[in-house]
Amino acid sequence: MNTVIYADHAATTRLSDKALQAMLPWLQEEYGNPSQPYSFSRKPKKAIAEARETIASCIGAQPDEIFFTSGGTESDNWAIKGTALSHGREGALLVSAFEHHAVLRACAAVAADGWPVSYINPTKDGIIIPENLNRLMTTATRTVSIMMANNEIGIIQPIKQLATIAHDHNAIFHTDAVQAAGHIPVNVEDLGVDMLSASAHKFNGPKGTGFLYIRKGTKIIPHENGGGQEFGQRAGTENVAGIVGMAVALQENVEALDRNQRHLKKLEDRLLQGIQDLPYIHNCACQPHLPGLLSLSFPRCDGEAILHRMDLMGICISTGSACDSKRTVISHVLQAIKMDEKIARGTIRISLGPENTLEEADAIAAGLRRIITGKMQQ
Ligand code: PLP
Repeated sequence: MNTVIYADHAATTRLSDKALQAMLPWLQEEYGNPSQPYSFSRKPKKAIAEARETIASCIGAQPDEIFFTSGGTESDNWAIKGTALSHGREGALLVSAFEHHAVLRACAAVAADGWPVSYINPTKDGIIIPENLNRLMTTATRTVSIMMANNEIGIIQPIKQLATIAHDHNAIFHTDAVQAAGHIPVNVEDLGVDMLSASAHKFNGPKGTGFLYIRKGTKIIPHENGGGQEFGQRAGTENVAGIVGMAVALQENVEALDRNQRHLKKLEDRLLQGIQDLPYIHNCACQPHLPGLLSLSFPRCDGEAILHRMDLMGICISTGSACDSKRTVISHVLQAIKMDEKIARGTIRISLGPENTLEEADAIAAGLRRIITGKMQQ
């Protein structure tokens, strides 16, 4: 029996039973290469087309605007590098300073090759203010990338307003929705984005599968050259089982969205109630955030030590800082929101999922109480 209390859903999620069942036939029975012309390949080809339609309908896109990838990292890299390379070196990129490393390191790579990249800072509350974006836009800005929801602090950005500003300056707008898809409503038409990254393993789909939404007419170069798969934009034999599993998982999550959100809110409240007399800061609590994701700072504590003590109790959580041999390294996200280093050191991330129970929320709170009150008595 699995006795682990898993509260790190922002890191990854369990594959749903329905997704697993939907994936199995494509691994051993129907293993034909979807690109082959014979009838044995017809079913996998059809399965991919249906998955593309399902995913498109989940995010308000057209099926031929969905491009399958190996996950969030690849989608982000394609969006950044593909648009940079599609315009001349005078074309600049503007991204938020607390993007996931998949965006930031893709930007560093294009910057090293001569494309100018500039960064916009969030407020202390973790918000990218549209007027600040407006001020930073120049006639050279061609691509803007701002994540829909941050993976450490969970804050949800005003993507619609930000995309409008990018468009007012004739720039393309990309959003990394890896933490958002399947957890909050995501509709590319409502948001007005040109590109959107998602990753299956964040919404109970399989690892190593994701997609990039690319609005028709967006200037971007192909990501992989080879066979003509993915409309000639991303070559390589398709991960049929992964794609099918991703579509099933996304649809399942989208259908259960309201119910899951209500449950997660209850779990959050219960957990916070259980630690209410402890000295802690609930980071960016006044801003809209991902349901179930709590960024908590315990002053004068060490987040990494809390993580390991929780681990000994069979509870999986995450942290916003890590110690190397000499010092504590504060995450770029906490640095971007200008969190005091002493507070940042004691920051943990708890990301609850729909499968967590109220009893588990109580156990997490009890675990934190044991650690923090024990520390307070030292
Ligand atoms: N973007 C964000 C916001 C993420 O949280 C992650 C993963 O943690 C990624 C991108 C990378 O996704 P993947 O693990 O599918 O490569």
